[in-house]
Amino acid sequence: MEYRRLGKSGLQISALSLGSWLTFGGQIDDSTADALMSMSYDAGINFFDNAESYQGGKSELVMGKILKSKPWSRSSYIVSSKIFFGSEDGKPNQKGLSRKHLFEATHKSLISLQLDYIDLLFCHRPDKSVPIEETVWAMHNLIQQGKCLYWGTSEWSAAEIMEARNICELHHLIKPIMEQPHYNMFVRNKIENEFLHLFQHKGMGTTIWSPLASGLLSGKYSQGMPEGTRLSDETLAWLKESTVNEDRLLKTQKLQIIANDLHLSLPVLALSWCLKNPNVSTVILGATKVKQLEENLTAIDKYTMLNAEIMEAIDAVLENKPKLPVY
Ligand code: NDP
Repeated sequence: MEYRRLGKSGLQISALSLGSWLTFGGQIDDSTADALMSMSYDAGINFFDNAESYQGGKSELVMGKILKSKPWSRSSYIVSSKIFFGSEDGKPNQKGLSRKHLFEATHKSLISLQLDYIDLLFCHRPDKSVPIEETVWAMHNLIQQGKCLYWGTSEWSAAEIMEARNICELHHLIKPIMEQPHYNMFVRNKIENEFLHLFQHKGMGTTIWSPLASGLLSGKYSQGMPEGTRLSDETLAWLKESTVNEDRLLKTQKLQIIANDLHLSLPVLALSWCLKNPNVSTVILGATKVKQLEENLTAIDKYTMLNAEIMEAIDAVLENKPKLPVY
């Protein structure tokens, strides 16, 4: 395994990590979740990603139970939670980024995960209805209380992150150190354009999500809708709608040819492409089967194969490389 600094923080995070969205407490049974975490840990993965909202809170319960059952030293792994969407139904203060919900959700996550502290705590989305100052102070206070060690954002804009940082500067508060953005071959603008200033001048790290575009970049949807997969699940029709289209399916077929030439599977090519970006601190993997994870883990040994020529060939297929101003 390779370890990268999470931005300019002191924390070393494995370049591949394991997430639990839709899978833990949902698509997979607990013994599969256990097998995935064990395989990850044995491969050197030290970061497990979670959120208050995943499967209405079940994902944290499952992960907590598994962690409790392992002889792993607490100092050998990093666990996250993310707060915004809530895990209970609908009362006004049960979601969002108010001080009240941030405190209550953190306490709930600590109980579910059976941990004394959460390593990485994310504000899962920006909350336009709450002053950023309130959120920033609450995150700072949670760190000071020892409930979490580092804080960050997920799917915030560069402007929102800068506002949070400026408030921290003004009041000498602990700054957010990481952002969790959507990043894969089809979704590039934030990491490759909008956030460049934050990487180069502010030292932000990133824990990127959906590196295989929910499985589309495994190539398995090229011949139709395979049963039992995430994007064939009717309850996730919204996800299929925003993920699958003709253009992407065509590009996936062209990427498969590049992968074949390199004797790589398409998911390994797609994950390697994410790992190749030095502004990615960790690629969060998702899997429903041990076999998928086994395959995906090999990307760590393959990504250096992707030289400039291959990256250009990939760009020629994708036609979505952000255009930056030339100085
Ligand atoms: P991916 O885009 O990699 O999708 C993972 C899914 O693709 C798997 O569950 C599996 O689904 C399929 N798959 C994975 N590997 C293979 C393979 N080798 N061959 C065929 N199919 C494969 O990642 P996720 O969307 O799961 O995101 C990863 C993590 O990121 C999440 O678990 C979560 O922790 C985090 N996340 C964060 C978000 C945020 O807002 N901050 C949003 C979304 C995710 P199946 O078998 O069902 O087809």
